[in-house]
Amino acid sequence: MSKALSIYMLHNYRNIPQVASLPDEIIRDIEVAGRVLPFKTNNYVVEQLIDWSDAENDPLFTLNFPRREMLEKKHYATVEKMLAQGTDKDTVNDAVQKIRLSLNPNPAGQEHNVPYLGKVRLKGIQHKYPETVLFFPSQGQTCHAYCTFCFRWPQFSGMSELKFAMKEADLFQSYLRIHREVTDVLLTGGDPMVMNASTLSAYIEPLLSAEFNHIRSIRIGTKSLTYWPYRYLSDADSDDIIHLFDKIISAGRNLSVQAHFNHPRELSTGAVRKAIGRIRATGAQIRTQSPLLRHINDRPELWSEMWRTQVDLGCIPYYMFVARDTGAKPFFELPLEKCWNIFRKAYRRVSGLCRTVRGPGMSDHAGKIQVLGIQEVKGEKVFVLRFLQGRNPKWVDIPFFAEYDPHATWFNQLKPAFGEEKFFFEEHGTRHFDTKPFLFE
Ligand SMILES: *Cc1c(COP(=O)(O)O)cnc(C)c1O
Ligand code: SF4
Repeated sequence: MSKALSIYMLHNYRNIPQVASLPDEIIRDIEVAGRVLPFKTNNYVVEQLIDWSDAENDPLFTLNFPRREMLEKKHYATVEKMLAQGTDKDTVNDAVQKIRLSLNPNPAGQEHNVPYLGKVRLKGIQHKYPETVLFFPSQGQTCHAYCTFCFRWPQFSGMSELKFAMKEADLFQSYLRIHREVTDVLLTGGDPMVMNASTLSAYIEPLLSAEFNHIRSIRIGTKSLTYWPYRYLSDADSDDIIHLFDKIISAGRNLSVQAHFNHPRELSTGAVRKAIGRIRATGAQIRTQSPLLRHINDRPELWSEMWRTQVDLGCIPYYMFVARDTGAKPFFELPLEKCWNIFRKAYRRVSGLCRTVRGPGMSDHAGKIQVLGIQEVKGEKVFVLRFLQGRNPKWVDIPFFAEYDPHATWFNQLKPAFGEEKFFFEEHGTRHFDTKPFLFE
């Protein structure tokens, strides 16, 4: 049975039948916050994921619908006032743009990771860790629905200067031809699975030839299993997608679908289960990841349930992230201590098969930093941390220590422990380190 995608955004979400039963304040909040934050949902999310009997407290509603509390009070007030006064569109847009720019739309210096090919700056590529290249195909810079916590939202809201998108698969291939150290290509977005099968093939199939034998793994980062599982079931080109996956496996490469699941309910529908089965039948692996988000998944039981269900379905739990310092972070953020407690309480409830997951991790300038825990060393309470990925690979897996801080929500708020001036990876006498990818110095 095929299913047609209906997209809902600010201009037409009132057509969602369930919206009529929402309190007026919630509608007003969508109108106001929805100007600033990404807002897009669809009929699958509305019909099968959201619990409308308690929408205001429902994590899946919160995942897609902008809320008042996601904006700073003064920002909310500015937009609300303009809308109430019928301010002209351009003035509203200017104000909205200013607010967006104040929300740290490009966290963790992603622009530092954009490499060159000769003199050409390859805007659609990020190369931060030697073995893995991120590729942002320009047709994949949107999603089947938008997460309110998304840190890639500038890519969707027309802030084109910040858009890491690249048209030519050719340039990408030229880059990979030279960089033989790269073993993994990660297609990301937005969501690359919004592309049609032939566009996706145009990017992937050339990499399966012998000249790209160093590329061992193709990864696709996607939330399509949550937002539109019919991508693999009944869309017009769903069979072509599955066929492309078959081809990658037949070429002797690893295909890993990096699936984003934020809540166990996303794994509950017949459609998602069928889609997972169909992907796995090609020989592809599905690895799962999610940020830890207040109001959405801030209870250990949800995580243990999610990991167990993923293993039941043949998926491999991979990363738990700390919410990034961007967008509506104040609404979603949790102190690092709380993140670690949620992680370990969930981790200890599950068997070793679920313990492939690593976290809680922060993707910062320096690398992916895991909070290993809180411990007391000779009377001083400290965070124990380590790099899961480091801008310099030599940093990886060396435990290091930061002063305990019950309020810290991100690595940049932490100070070295034991009265040290700097962390081991920072340059002498400063709190800085080289942000250029070491490969391109
Ligand atoms: C996480 C990440 C990768 C992939 O790292 P793995 O540990 O191999 O999954 C690559 N590039 C960037 C920028 C990342 O944040
Ligand atoms: S699916 Fe990913 S890229 Fe798309 S809105 Fe959600 S977090 Fe952002």
